[in-house]
Amino acid sequence: MIKKDPNKGLIFNIQRYSVHDGPGIRTIVFLQGCPLRCPWCCNPESQSVRPVTWVKNGKKETISHWMTADEVMDEIEKDEIFYRTSGGGVTLSGGECLMQADFGANILRQCKQLGISTAIETTGAMPLTEIQKVLPYTDYVMFDLKIMNPIRAKQVIGDNVAQVKASFEEALATPTARVMPRVPLIPGYTTVPKNLQQIADYVHEVGVKEIHILPFHQYGSSKYEYLNRTYTMKDTPLLTDQQVSDIHSFFEDQNIHAVVNGLE
Ligand code: SF4
Repeated sequence: MIKKDPNKGLIFNIQRYSVHDGPGIRTIVFLQGCPLRCPWCCNPESQSVRPVTWVKNGKKETISHWMTADEVMDEIEKDEIFYRTSGGGVTLSGGECLMQADFGANILRQCKQLGISTAIETTGAMPLTEIQKVLPYTDYVMFDLKIMNPIRAKQVIGDNVAQVKASFEEALATPTARVMPRVPLIPGYTTVPKNLQQIADYVHEVGVKEIHILPFHQYGSSKYEYLNRTYTMKDTPLLTDQQVSDIHSFFEDQNIHAVVNGLE
């Protein structure tokens, strides 16, 4: 477990000028560490709770670095003008950013003090206490719903569905946070009809009317080679446009507005 230090975090990337991880132009702070092991993970370097090195093009590279909250805030503040003009801000991602919730809460709190909009990307796969630390300072919660059957979720990705639901409902109950549930469409896993139905039933149950669906991609496959790890999904074909359209229609038919890849 990464030490609970609000002033020091393990970061594996800070990406400026992103337009994909929340509204407007954003700086994405990628926090190291994830309790899950999704076979489709496109950031496998994020999973370890320790600093990671990999070998890329024959050269050894250190991926993750300890940074102080002040150092991260210095990076964030460089683009304040873009946040204001585009309606953007800062997004904490991962890994699972809630693994470093004390540090994350400190960053988000300082952003709010500066008037910078805040977001997190999470799977909610941590004890409820961790999301409670960040929610008071979070404007947008982009929340991944993956495998909803508790036995299958435990077997395939090591997830605890009860914990995920508790975190999701805590976010929904936070009046200052807008929650955007997202479903990564992973062939053979999240896209099986029974799972899609369980997701639809759950979002109905908690009163959510819109979800984002994110089709499977292979962007992370080369990272497994750099890490000398086996990527078991390298031969899995992408979903066809028709398959994505069918899943979109499935949700729409159940009165859940579905947005593909964040695009209307
Ligand atoms: S939750 Fe995200 S970061 Fe963690 S293993 Fe799954 S895909 Fe990777």
